[in-house]
Amino acid sequence: MESNVRVRFAPSPTGPLHIGGVRTALYNYLFAKKHNGTFILRIEDTDQTRYVANAEQYIIDALDWCTIPFDEGPGKNEKFGPYRQSERKELYKKYADVLVETGWAYYAFDTSEQLDSHRKGHEAEGKTFIYNWHNREKGRLVNSLVLSDDDVQNRINAGDKFVIRFKTPQDETLILEDEIRGTIKIDTNTLDDKILFKSDGMPTYHLANIVDDHLMEISHVIRGEEWLPSLPLHSLLYRAFGWESPKFAHLPLILKPIGKGKLSKRDGDKLGFPVFPLEYTNEVTGDVSRGYKEDGYFADAFINMLAFLGWNPGTEQEIFSLEELVETFDLKRVSKSGAKFSPDKTKWFNQQYMQQKSDKELTDLFLPILTEKGISKDSDFVLKVVALIKERAVFINDFWELSSFFFETPTEYDTKNVKKNWKPETGSLMNELIDVIKDIDDFSSENTEKVIKEWISGKEIGFGKVMQPLRLSLVGKLAGPHLFDIISMIGKEETVKRIQNAIKTL
Ligand code: GLU
Repeated sequence: MESNVRVRFAPSPTGPLHIGGVRTALYNYLFAKKHNGTFILRIEDTDQTRYVANAEQYIIDALDWCTIPFDEGPGKNEKFGPYRQSERKELYKKYADVLVETGWAYYAFDTSEQLDSHRKGHEAEGKTFIYNWHNREKGRLVNSLVLSDDDVQNRINAGDKFVIRFKTPQDETLILEDEIRGTIKIDTNTLDDKILFKSDGMPTYHLANIVDDHLMEISHVIRGEEWLPSLPLHSLLYRAFGWESPKFAHLPLILKPIGKGKLSKRDGDKLGFPVFPLEYTNEVTGDVSRGYKEDGYFADAFINMLAFLGWNPGTEQEIFSLEELVETFDLKRVSKSGAKFSPDKTKWFNQQYMQQKSDKELTDLFLPILTEKGISKDSDFVLKVVALIKERAVFINDFWELSSFFFETPTEYDTKNVKKNWKPETGSLMNELIDVIKDIDDFSSENTEKVIKEWISGKEIGFGKVMQPLRLSLVGKLAGPHLFDIISMIGKEETVKRIQNAIKTL
């Protein structure tokens, strides 16, 4: 049965979703699913100056790839819709007006020039200008707290630009609760009177966010630490409206690999790892940023890694399926301090998932890569190759590098190792070996190994004298899985052909 846990992921579509944003979405998802609740996507696009057209689709595609779909959102179960704030804009003014009527907010007519001059004046005296209790009613600022009702009405009628500001109460200690950080105390005198409604007729983030969380019956607000400074205002807004406040949880920052400073959108390019789930093309500049998906990460490995950036289960277990994460996730185990992002650990997760995946699953991912290279081999053969190489791979994209010799005759040989291992007598030894191989009927890995090793023993020479040149002949380098597995896979004719090629070339 659905519970009344309702959480939302509320990104602003200003560009691609950074992994910090994906983690916020993930924790919301895990929390919702754990409590049989609802996970909502709300697009907070009231700031038209920062709007990027392809960003919303990017966000939806990223959640899809991560397999953390929303239950309600744009175009899906729209019972509390619309879920794009730009489509709800008519709604917010009325709420701002209610706050003006009840004395919790006021009109402010100060022009940007006037505010600038206040700011500069303060700076000149080494002070910071804050629009709040200490100056809002002193007469230098132009607002409805000091102007007469008629004056205010006349200005509005005359089309003067105004904003609506929140009237923060004076001399009060707010006691706020955060599910992760515990009790937080804030002196209201340190807060400024934030704008709730802008002169362009749009609500600010604060107003729209609170109104929507209330109307959408959000029970828990789980969001990044950067929103913690907004908590006092948000909590006061609930009081002002007389609404029950949701519970709040502010997630720790994701830090750069060096452990200092927030991991930023630009770090990916600078430090050489993706910071976005999917590749992203900037609409204006055409610049392309790397994505985890395109870099070859498995979505489940990526999600597992992200879950651990700020949370841990309190046990040694690190590998969790999404279902296990849902079961185990607990806000109480989310840490207060920043979580260091580690590109190496991220690769480690991918490698662990690689080993866990079935050969069949990996074969299905490898086949299209082979097709693209113009190689058509039946899937049983590819499946066997996959079984032999997967333990050395971190990414599917490594498969070709690790296995090309199963599909193609090598044309180049590793010169350094040829020099070391291909001696003057090697050619005739290899010719003898060809005859031995031609006589083998049972070409299984075990039998070829037995016959060839017996032949080497009979000649009373070191194994390396044959095995290294043989590997160079078949693979082109001293790498790859068990040599007799390769021999058995490529078959007698191809084995003989490769040894002959090597004799000719080396
Ligand atoms: N629109 C805000 C953002 O971009 C949402 C913050 C919140 O969750 O309240 O992150």
